[in-house]
Amino acid sequence: MKVAVIGAGLSGLGCAKILQQAGLEITVFEKSRGLGGRMSTRRTESWQCDHGAQYFTARSAQFRDEVDSWIRAGAAAEWQATIISIGERPADLPDARKSETRRFVGTPGMSAPARFMAQGLNIKSQCRVQTLQRRGGGWLLGYQSANGATETAQFDWVVCAMPAPQSSELLSSSAPDVSAAIQRFGMQPCWAVMLACDNPLEASFDAAFVNEGALSWIARDTSKPSRKGAECWLLHASEQWSLDNLELTAEQATTNLLAEFARLTGIELNAFNVTQTSAHRWRYARNGDAPDAPVSRLESGLKLGICGDWLNGGRVEGAWQSGRHLAQSILNCATCHHPNPDR
Ligand SMILES: Cc1cc2nc3c(=O)[nH]c(=O)nc-3n(C[C@H](O)[C@H](O)[C@H](O)COP(=O)(O)OP(=O)(O)OC[C@H]3O[C@@H](n4cnc5c(N)ncnc54)[C@H](O)[C@@H]3O)c2cc1C
Repeated sequence: MKVAVIGAGLSGLGCAKILQQAGLEITVFEKSRGLGGRMSTRRTESWQCDHGAQYFTARSAQFRDEVDSWIRAGAAAEWQATIISIGERPADLPDARKSETRRFVGTPGMSAPARFMAQGLNIKSQCRVQTLQRRGGGWLLGYQSANGATETAQFDWVVCAMPAPQSSELLSSSAPDVSAAIQRFGMQPCWAVMLACDNPLEASFDAAFVNEGALSWIARDTSKPSRKGAECWLLHASEQWSLDNLELTAEQATTNLLAEFARLTGIELNAFNVTQTSAHRWRYARNGDAPDAPVSRLESGLKLGICGDWLNGGRVEGAWQSGRHLAQSILNCATCHHPNPDR
C-alpha cells in the first residue's frame, strides 16, 4: 500500500513512522526546507531561536518513552528554567513557580526531535502539495517540487497532517464533506519576535507567562540546553493582540512588542544591548479546545486519514499521539488494505 503523508510535523512523522514499520510504502511531503513544522528554530550565523513551540511536556507513559529515546539520541533535553508569571494569573492556570512540571526542548534546537524521527523515512522536502484528486480508487497528488516544477504522483492512501485550515482547503474539491467538517476547527495566529543581544539582558528569570497586555510569553532562548551563539530572547504576542494586529508588517510588530517587553520587565532596550531582531507571524498557531473531537480522523471509504495537534489538545504531545492514533486506526481497519481494484 502506497501512502502519502502531507506534513512533516510531529503528527505526520509519528504516523509515517508506524506505517512504515508495519511495511507500508510511505512518502512524506513537506513544503518547507526544514522538518518539524511548528517545532522550529530560526538560525543565523550569530544566533538561533525557537520561534514556534517553546517546550513540551510528556504526560502519557508512551510519550515519555518517546521523549526518553530522543534524550538518549541527544535530540532533546530537560529545560530547567526559572519561570515566573507576570500579571494576574487566570484562576484556572497553575502557578508556574510552584509547578513541578518537567519541561523538555529539542537540542540543539526545537526541530531536532523531528529530524531524529525522520531517519529512514522517504521525505520530499520543499514539496508543497497543491492538489488532491480521487483517481483509480486512490489519490493523485499534484505538488510543486523543490526545483519549482509541477509534478504528480499516485497513492492508495493520503494522510493530511497539517493545521485544520490547510487540510480543509486541500480537501475542498475532492472530499468536500470532510473539508467542511474540519473547517470548524479554527486556529488562532501568533506573532513571534526574536531579539539577539551582544550583552546579556539583566533579567532574574528565564521565561515568563504573561497575563496582561500584548504579550503572552517571554523566554531567554539561550537558557535552554545546547543553544549556541549570542543571547537571544523570544516574545510571543497574545492571541487577541495577534488577531487584532495580524496585518502589521514585521517591523511594526517588532517595534510594538519590544516596547511592551521593555514596559513589562523594566529592561531598557537600545542598540547597545539589542543587535538584531526578527519577526515571524504564525497564521495558524494554536487552536482552542475541541473536546468532542476524535484524536484522529479515519475516512476509510475515501482512503483518507487526518491528524494533527488541533484534534488533540493543541500541543506537541497531542500532535504525536494524533499521528500514532491514526496510523494504528489505518492498520486496524480490515477494509483498508485491499489494493485498489482498478489500478
Ligand atoms: C507560537 C507557537 C507556540 C507554541 N508553543 C507550544 C508549547 O510551548 N508547547 C507545546 O507543546 N506546543 C506548542 N505549540 C504547538 C505545537 O507546536 C504543535 O502542537 C505541534 O508542533 C503541531 O504538530 P503538527 O504535526 O500537528 O503540525 P505542524 O507542526 O504544523 O506540521 C504541519 C506541517 O505541514 C506542512 N504543510 C502544510 N501545508 C502543506 C502542503 N500543502 N504541502 C506540504 N506540506 C505542508 C507544514 O510546513 C508543517 O511542517 C506552539 C505552536 C506555536 C505556533
